[in-house]
Amino acid sequence: MRNKFCVKCGTEKNLVNELCLNCFKEENSLLKNLKEIKILICDNCKKYMNKNSWREPFSNDHIKNIKKIVSHLLEEKIVANPKAKLKEVNADVNVHESAKFTNGSLLNVEAELNIVGVIGDIEMEESYNIPLKVRFSTCNICKKKGSNYYEAKLQIRPKNEKVLKFVKNYCKTKNLFISKVIEEKYGYDIYLSEQKEARNLGNLLKRKFNGEVTESKKIFGKRDGQDIFRATIAFRLEE
Ligand SMILES: [Zn+2]
Ligand SMILES: [Zn+2]
Repeated sequence: MRNKFCVKCGTEKNLVNELCLNCFKEENSLLKNLKEIKILICDNCKKYMNKNSWREPFSNDHIKNIKKIVSHLLEEKIVANPKAKLKEVNADVNVHESAKFTNGSLLNVEAELNIVGVIGDIEMEESYNIPLKVRFSTCNICKKKGSNYYEAKLQIRPKNEKVLKFVKNYCKTKNLFISKVIEEKYGYDIYLSEQKEARNLGNLLKRKFNGEVTESKKIFGKRDGQDIFRATIAFRLEE
């Protein structure tokens, strides 16, 4: 007779593990915990940081993008109660209207997490209000793009409009940025953001326009104790 009463609140009901349904739900939750979520978004290209690398954005619209990123990361960071089986996870994300999306801004975002699942054969539904902070910064690719940063100088000798145009178009399709183009008496000097890509481009010019490519390097600094080189890639058209 005694075990007909809930051990917690004393009501007389059908019991699950000696608890009434209400008390069972209070004592057991679908969610074990939520890992800390750090949200970092590039103010320029809208990529976001996840597992130490920059991921493609979900949308070009900042608000839509933030909402998707937050839901995505929330779903990833959920740690379920090992006894529970989750059936549905939904996140409703609210971005404050006063939000600014520039480098250095810190945004308050509220997420309402709804989880449906079962523990044993008990259906459960839970919701959580999760305040989050979204930080805006500039990703490493955009940093290079926006400054005078360059790793390679591509020289084109002699001046040739066709080659210059080809180089500009090529850069648009790759993660390769032109920080400046200098018109010299004997040709063009094009300052490029990535050495490896610049080298590929030099070899491509050689095949496409029939010429010679030579490369030289100069130390210009140290990073993590290692010398960093700047390369000069010279392309000379055959006459
Ligand atoms: Zn109870
Ligand atoms: Zn970026």
